[in-house]
Amino acid sequence: MYRKSKGILGLISLLLSLECMAGFSDGPYVFIHQDGYKAAQICDGEKREFMIVEGKDFDYCGQQIKLNLTPIEPNDTHYKGDFPVVALSDIHGQHTIMMQLLKANQVVDQNGRWIFNKGHLVITGDIFDRGSQVTETLWYIKWLEAEALKAGGRVHFLLGNHEAMVLNGDLRYLHIKYRQTAMVLAQPFEQLFSKNSVLGRWLRQKNTVVEINGNLFLHGGLHPETLKLNLSLKEMNRIFRKELVVKEQGSQGRSDLGRFLYGTDGPLWYRGFFSETPSANFAQLQAHFSVERFIVGHTSHKEVVSRYNGRIIGIDSSIKLGHKGELLLIDKGRYWRADMQGNRTQLNFEK
Ligand code: ZN
Repeated sequence: MYRKSKGILGLISLLLSLECMAGFSDGPYVFIHQDGYKAAQICDGEKREFMIVEGKDFDYCGQQIKLNLTPIEPNDTHYKGDFPVVALSDIHGQHTIMMQLLKANQVVDQNGRWIFNKGHLVITGDIFDRGSQVTETLWYIKWLEAEALKAGGRVHFLLGNHEAMVLNGDLRYLHIKYRQTAMVLAQPFEQLFSKNSVLGRWLRQKNTVVEINGNLFLHGGLHPETLKLNLSLKEMNRIFRKELVVKEQGSQGRSDLGRFLYGTDGPLWYRGFFSETPSANFAQLQAHFSVERFIVGHTSHKEVVSRYNGRIIGIDSSIKLGHKGELLLIDKGRYWRADMQGNRTQLNFEK
């Protein structure tokens, strides 16, 4: 009986996926060749490949879009200054919600152009997986990063566990659309982000932690064991970058340090900041990293939340569910939750 029902379900899902495939579009995936950039995209279920030139509008299935193909040096690990900061997390392919949040809170204008001047936008990981608008988000953030830089601002896209999973071929949470992409382009999905691809090269340059005005941003949290590593934040970024893709580490795989950092107690996975009795000693963590506050995603809440008198701020506001979301705004020493209509509520650090 079990087998039979599984068989029927399998057949239904196959038929559904074949039906979706006819009309789906995705891309572009751009690869670096000796003689230029080669783009592959899928329009209405069909593969199209062609060479492209940097700086020109890109024809995405009949729609003109802007792509930034140029590599940018990794961001610094520490920033200090008098500028506002906006942070959000765990977008998980919900491009439309992200855009509405950024527009409603004047980070970008109605056309998606940067209007946040010297402000910093932080995304604490997990653009990949679950939703169906991952490619759009990656290209947009890459483009916005360059726009922000021109205005004297910054975009920090920090790595989350889902970036690490996808780049290492762990595709458990991939939306069905991207399985179809891999089929049509006849490549394992993670190969579309190889180091010879524009997005893959970009992802390999990303930081995992950034400290801005005493706030430490990262995806998951910091297990007490992390203190024993005695690593500076800069060093942590360096190791995360170097050991992102296991297959690229040679026959030995990741180092012991890399295995800890990418493991379940490492900064990308640890959820202990939000457990009933947190094992983390916040005073020790604050002193060790010389910061006042830890701002993290990964553990989902209904909204942006403050814990332990504002020492922890959780910014995964469940955007992944595809209905709504919030971002955190830090301006002149005050901390606000902001929603998709631009309404702001100051965070209460009393609790
Ligand atoms: Zn996560």
